[in-house]
Formats: sequence, C-alpha cells, structure tokens
Amino acid sequence: MLSSPISVDALTDAVEEIFVAGGFSTGQAGPMARVLVAGERDGCKSHGIYRIAGCLRTVKAGKANVTAVPELQDADGAIVRVDAKGGFANPAFELGVPVLAERAKALGFAAMAINDCVHVAALWPEVEALTDLGLAAISMCPSYSTVAPTGGREPLFGTNPFAFGWPRPGGNPYAFDFATSVAARGEVELHHRAGTSLPEGWAIDADGNPTTTPAEALEGALLPFGGHKGSAISTMIELLGGAMIGDLMSTEAAEVLGSNRLLPRHGELVLAFDPVRFSAGRGTDPFAKAEILFDAIVGQGARLPSQRRYAARAESLKNGIVLDADELAELARLAAEGLGAVD
Ligand code: NDP
Repeated sequence: MLSSPISVDALTDAVEEIFVAGGFSTGQAGPMARVLVAGERDGCKSHGIYRIAGCLRTVKAGKANVTAVPELQDADGAIVRVDAKGGFANPAFELGVPVLAERAKALGFAAMAINDCVHVAALWPEVEALTDLGLAAISMCPSYSTVAPTGGREPLFGTNPFAFGWPRPGGNPYAFDFATSVAARGEVELHHRAGTSLPEGWAIDADGNPTTTPAEALEGALLPFGGHKGSAISTMIELLGGAMIGDLMSTEAAEVLGSNRLLPRHGELVLAFDPVRFSAGRGTDPFAKAEILFDAIVGQGARLPSQRRYAARAESLKNGIVLDADELAELARLAAEGLGAVD
C-alpha cells in the first residue's frame, strides 16, 4: 500500500509494476515509469501519473505495441534513426540518445529521428538528457489534430510540443518546453475533470466560436499560442517532425487513431549541438556568454523557464512526492485491475 509522501524510486517502482501488470515488457515499462514519475516529481501534473490511465487505454485499444523492442537503424552519419516499432517513444529515445550524443560530439551536430512511436510525455526530460552530456538540444513532435491554424476554424495541427535545452556547467540547464497550442490538451482535460472554466483565448467550439467550456473545447479546437507566430512554428514541427522524417503528420495521426481519447502514434525529431565545436576558433566561451545572458534576464526580475520545475524537483527529492488520497486510490486501482481498470 503506497503512502504519501513517497520517494521518487518507490513511485517509479510502483508505476513500473502497473505497466508490467498491463502487459508491458520491462523494456517499455521502465522508461515510461521514469518519464511519468519525472513529471510528477517536477510538479508537471499534466504529464505525471495522471497519464498512466491514458497509456493503458491506448494499449487496450490495440494502438501501442507494449512489447516492442526499438531498433537503432542508422548510426554512422549525422542522422541517427530509431524505429520504435509501434512502442512508446521513451524506450526508443533511451536507446538512441547515447549514439546521438556521440555523433553530435564527433560532428558538431547530429539529429535523431524516432519513427513509429506512441507519444505521451513531456519533452524536457529529453533535452535534459542531452544537456547532461554537455550538448544543446531541441526536441519536437507532431501530435494528432486538435489545434486550428490562426484564422482557421477546424483542428489541423497537433498541440505539437517544442523543447530546447542549454547546458549550464555546475547547475541545472536552461530549458523550456511547451505546447505550440495556447495550452497543452492535458491542461484542458484537467480543467474538465476539475469542473473549472478555461481562460479566454484558449479554444473555439465545434462551430468555430470562442469558448471557455472545457467540454466544448475538447469537441472543437484549441488555438495556437502567439497567433500567427505559433501557427507557423506548429507548421514547422509538422514539416520537420512529420513530413521530413517520413512519418505521420497530425491529420494523418488523427485518421489512424480515430479517437481523441487515445495517445497518438507518429514520429519525433531530436537535434543535438555541441557548442564547443560551433564556437571553435572564435576565442570565446559559449557557456560563459550564456551565463551573462541568464544573469541579465534574472537581473531584471524575470525568471528562467524551468525554475519552478527545478524548485519542485528539489522539494520532491528532499521530502518525497506528495500525492493526494484520490491519486493514491487511483494507483491502487490501476495496480489491482490492470487493463481492466480502463474502458
Ligand atoms: P507551460 O506553459 O506550462 O510552460 C512552458 C515553459 O515556460 C516551461 O518551461 C515553463 O517553466 C516556462 N515558464 C512558464 N512560466 C514562465 C515565466 N513566467 N517565466 C519564464 N518561464 C516560464 O507549458 P505547456 O502547458 O505549453 O506544456 C506543458 C507540457 O506538455 C510540456 O512539457 C510539453 O512537452 C507537453 N506536451 C506534450 C505533448 C505530446 O504530444 N507529447 C503535446 C503538448 C504538450 P516551468 O515548468 O518552470 O514553469
């Protein structure tokens, strides 16, 4: 029986056991447990343990291969390709990232295309995995159509997350990670569950009218962040993380899935840069220059992205992760009932 607060390791073991009980191989269950518990640890509830049920629902619907063994296909040049074989993205990422890092250090830059994966998670764990190795990183993927282009009326883009990380010697990296919709769809789902209204400007209903009602937003479309600018960045993600790597774009992923309640299958693009190689011969230290910029940002009273997350992480590592009674009961239910716990 779990009790709160719970250590990161104990919660990771518990979540892994739930996935194994749901039929996942340990190769799929371990990375999924690690990434969802990292979300919980860092105070990112929309990508924490709340996502377990969605993973199980997707498996039950036959839309994820939970015994898939990802395969590294290209590893000689600047493009590293991993075929996830219909399994989750995170086992494929964990397989490919050492090779991606080695290639980026050898060449100065490398890219990893993950194909045919089911995606659920936040992207910051991925860019952090690369900043931990001294590399700057960008990660992006399409999703399934839930976002209307600025000026349009119907879902076309996914919520298409985009993350960037920059290593900071001796400290947490500079990292940001966001949906290119005004908000992640998971945030709308949390408002729906809590019975609270959405802020204005997040969504339109099925007729294209602005709405603050979560159920109407889930039936209609989300809006891109930043108007035409977010719309263009989301288009770029469709092109680079979908068309360019030979994988599904968000409209195609939606057609394959045939539902808004399951997790989408598509591809993902991860880019890794070696700042030392890019600045070679210039007589400057990229990391020192970066620190001057970060100091200037903070010096104006602004905060760096991920600061809230790092504070939550420090608290969780010190005192354990706090779960409420409903969350503990849900974990117990999922552990006891496995795939039977979801519709
Ligand atoms: P948020 O808007 O919550 O946060 C975006 C980023 O901005 C974070 O790095 C956050 O840091 C930072 N930030 C927030 N407020 C400030 C501030 N005042 N000053 C400086 N920085 C700030 O993210 P979203 O809701 O858009 O996305 C949430 C998650 O959903 C992401 O992790 C994303 O990867 C994931 N997602 C995944 C999808 C998928 O298909 N797999 C689809 C869409 C989203 P901090 O965390 O410290 O607040």
